[in-house]
Amino acid sequence: MHYHISIADVEQHFIQLTYTISHLHQDSINLQLPAWRPGRYELQNFAKNVRLFEITDGSGNPVYYRKITKDRWQVNTKGLKTIYVSYQYYAHQPDAGACEVNEHYLYINPVHCCMYVEGRMDEPYTLSFELPEDYRIASQMEQTGMHQLSAPNFDYLVDSPLFASNCLEHHQFNVAETTIHIWFQGSHTFDVNRLMDDTKAYALAQIRVFGDLPCKDYHFLYLMHDMPARHGVEHLDSTVISLGQLADQTHEEFYQDVLAISSHELFHLWNIKRIRPEEMLPYDFTKENYSTLGYVYEGVTTYYGDLMLLQSGVWSWEQYAASFSSDLKRHIDNPGRFNYSVAASSWDTWLDGYVQGVSGRKVSIYIEGMIAAAIADITIISNSNGKYSLHNVMQDLYQKYYKHGRGYSEVIYRELLEYYSGVSFNRYFEDFIWGKGKLLSGLEEALLLVGCVLNTNKHGYLILEKRTKLSEVEQLAFNKWTTLQN
Ligand SMILES: [Zn+2]
Repeated sequence: MHYHISIADVEQHFIQLTYTISHLHQDSINLQLPAWRPGRYELQNFAKNVRLFEITDGSGNPVYYRKITKDRWQVNTKGLKTIYVSYQYYAHQPDAGACEVNEHYLYINPVHCCMYVEGRMDEPYTLSFELPEDYRIASQMEQTGMHQLSAPNFDYLVDSPLFASNCLEHHQFNVAETTIHIWFQGSHTFDVNRLMDDTKAYALAQIRVFGDLPCKDYHFLYLMHDMPARHGVEHLDSTVISLGQLADQTHEEFYQDVLAISSHELFHLWNIKRIRPEEMLPYDFTKENYSTLGYVYEGVTTYYGDLMLLQSGVWSWEQYAASFSSDLKRHIDNPGRFNYSVAASSWDTWLDGYVQGVSGRKVSIYIEGMIAAAIADITIISNSNGKYSLHNVMQDLYQKYYKHGRGYSEVIYRELLEYYSGVSFNRYFEDFIWGKGKLLSGLEEALLLVGCVLNTNKHGYLILEKRTKLSEVEQLAFNKWTTLQN
C-alpha cells in the first residue's frame, strides 16, 4: 500500500493523493474512506472533500468503479495486478483534527483523506511526498527517507497526523524511557524551557498512575494561529493542539490553559488510545461506534488532565480549585443536567455531541464525566482509608486489560471501582452515570470526605474550597486526593 502526496493548489487548498494498490488477485475490491475520526465521536463524511476521483491501471487506462455507499467505492480489478487511485482533497480546516494546506505549511490528518482496501487494513503503508526541498516533517510515523514515511497498518496511518514546512520549531527531552518532542508550527510566545519542565513534571505524574509510558517517542504538535483557537486531539504516540491567543487572555492564563489541554491530551495516550471500550476495539471507520462510556474516555481524562497538574506540583491548590469551579459553572449553567444522563449523552455524541444542540436536552461527557470521576476517586480514597484511589482502577485497565489485548465495559469498570473502594457502586451508577440531576449533591457529599465544600461566590456561582480546619481523617484523605503518593 503506497500513498504519494503533493500540494495541488495552495490558493484553493487542495492536496493531491495517489493511492497505489498492488498484489491484486480478486475480481473486485472495495475502497473505503473513513466516515469519522477517533477523538470526535460523530460522522464527518470526509468524502465530501474529495474531487477529481479517478482510477487507472498500469498503462493509464481507466478502471471501472462505482460508489456503493457515500464513502465506499467498488472497483472492478479483474485481470489487474496494480491500480492507481487518484483524487484531490480539500484541506482548509486548521483545527486540531483536520487538514490544511497554505503557503506556509502542509498539515494532514490521514484519517480524513486516506483509504483502505476492505480486508487489507493490516498491511503496511508507505508514504512519499512531493514537497519543497527545505520542508521538514513532524509526525509519529517512522521517517524512512527524505519526505518519506511508513506506518505498520491502516489504523496507525490514520492515527498519525503530520506537519510539513520549512519553519517547524523542534525541541526534545527525555522522560523515563521516552523522548518527548515538542513541535511548533507558527509563532508563539512561550518560555520553552518552562514548558518543557512543566511537561516533564505532569508526564512523570501520569507515568506514576499507569506504571509506564509505552512509547519510545511522543510528539506534541502545536499548531499556532493568530485567530482564537483551543483544540486538542489525541493519538497513539502524539497529539495535535491548535492554539490561538484570545485578546482578553493574559499570557499567563493562556499558558496555564495550554498546560491543561496538553495534560489532558497526554492522558489520552493511555485512556482511549490504549485503554479502550470493547465496542471500539477495533475502530469501525465506516459507521457510528456507539458507546455509553464517554464518562470514562473523556470524563476521567478531563478530571485527570487537571489533577495531574495539581499532583505534580505544576498547579497550586488554588489554581486547581479555580479550574474545577469553572467546570462546575458549566454544569450548573446547563439545564440538560436535569433531563439526560451522562451515559445517554455519550451514546448521543453521534447525534449532537459537538454542537450546542437543543437547550436542556443533554449533558457533556467532558464536564459531567469529570464530576462523576471526582466522586468515584474520592469514594475510593475515603472508603479505603487512603490506601487506594482512582489511579488503581486506571492502572488496572491499562496493565490488566489493554496489555492483554482486551477492552473494558461498564461492568469491568464498575467491578474495579467496587474492588478498590470495598463498597457498592449501585447508587453511583443509578444516580450519577445513568441518572439525572443528582451529580451536584453527590459531589458535595463526596467533597466533605476530603474536607472541601462548594461555597457561593459574589457572582452567585459555586466555587470549590478547602475548609480551614480539617479532622485528621479528612486531612489524610485530602492529601491522598491532591498529592502524588507512593
Ligand atoms: Zn479528550
